Amino acid sequence: MDNCIFCKIIDHKQPAKIVYEDEQVVAIEDIRPQSPVHLLAMPRKHLPSLNDAEGSDATILGRLFTVAAHLARERQLESRGYRTVINNGPWAGQTVDHLHVHVLGGRVFHWPPG
Ligand code: 5GP
Ligand code: ZN
Repeated sequence: MDNCIFCKIIDHKQPAKIVYEDEQVVAIEDIRPQSPVHLLAMPRKHLPSLNDAEGSDATILGRLFTVAAHLARERQLESRGYRTVINNGPWAGQTVDHLHVHVLGGRVFHWPPG
């Protein structure tokens, strides 16, 4: 998708710290980390948000979360815990319209979120 920053990163046309890549999923370090670990796992397929996912995208959605868990384990986050977040739409604070799962760890997170 033209004019999508994450599509450009996925296509290696825009620099980013890529920490994981497979046929369906790419993960990068967030440029403005909100915690000691802050990664973004995204599908190669341009889905603007979770609202655009259909039944045929179930495999991609599953892969996003299994990759998120893999990345968290790789960083020894699983015993203390970590947070996975998908922001959907303006009220949730979504700023990049390419579906992504935030993987946040390395500090305590509170609930409810702000
Ligand atoms: P959202 O607000 O859509 O849930 O999350 C978008 C995230 O992407 C933000 O945490 C923001 O810091 C990150 N981000 C935006 N532009 C870039 C970029 O060009 N490179 C990287 N690595 N992260 C970005
Ligand atoms: Zn995109």
